[in-house]
Amino acid sequence: MTTKVNLDSILPLVKKPGRYIGGELNSVHPDYSQIDLSFALVFPDLYEIGMSHQGLQILYHIINRQPGLAAERCYAPDVDMEEQLRRNDLPLFSLESRRPLAEFDVIGFTLPYELCYTNILTVLDLAGLPLRAEDRGDKFPLVIGGGACSMNPEPVADFFDLIALGDGEELILDIIAALRAAREKGLSRAKTLERCAEIQGVYVPSLFKPRYDDGQLTAIEPLKESYTEVIRRIVPELPPVELLTHPLVPLVKPVHDRFGVEIARGCTRGCRFCQAGMIYRRAGAQC
Ligand code: SF4
Repeated sequence: MTTKVNLDSILPLVKKPGRYIGGELNSVHPDYSQIDLSFALVFPDLYEIGMSHQGLQILYHIINRQPGLAAERCYAPDVDMEEQLRRNDLPLFSLESRRPLAEFDVIGFTLPYELCYTNILTVLDLAGLPLRAEDRGDKFPLVIGGGACSMNPEPVADFFDLIALGDGEELILDIIAALRAAREKGLSRAKTLERCAEIQGVYVPSLFKPRYDDGQLTAIEPLKESYTEVIRRIVPELPPVELLTHPLVPLVKPVHDRFGVEIARGCTRGCRFCQAGMIYRRAGAQC
């Protein structure tokens, strides 16, 4: 049984209602009687920007192809929708089922660029979740992050239960297996996170203590003897093309209004100003 947020009274009052109604071609409609683990995949920026992001779509299709799993989407609402949600005391919701984010088992944020970090806090607040991971008990969804900015996770580490470092295609399935196993054993949130920490690429901030000297981060000290470093995940091959042959077709014109095909990941050029050129630099690139 899931709750459905009623938007009837507020949709006519916002600039672009199409951002919030879902139902795009190739989107899913989960039957929650068959689902044991649910994800709200959040892109912390406007719908038009998030719908141009291929990483979220890849994870969306990977999760939804698995039996018993559902992934729905949420994009940061614009200020007019945020105002209406707050004024009407409505929680932030997923596009597919209009389900409150707080009802999902996992809220998974894409971390595409630092400028959207404040939107992460807005989304958590609108979802009714305490902002800091240490203030969220067992009844709240796990909040996980991943994407390009996970390579420098510390600025947002306090807000996440877990941050996935590196390519997510295989890592997300490993995390899902660990979450299911933890649930089967009835493990607490803390113990569940400890199990997830055993997976390569998983950073659990609560298992480390950052040290600051005069406002500068000087060290990140492990709190668990067997968990002292996190090594990013790199997929040996790009995801199968079938994953993107059924792209979500936006209802509002996206910033990149085209069909994207990932023919390579990374770049050999290494321009110093470029996040992609540094983070996804191809192995062996010398420049
Ligand atoms: S700007 Fe980035 S993606 Fe473009 S050539 Fe330079 S490193 Fe590569």
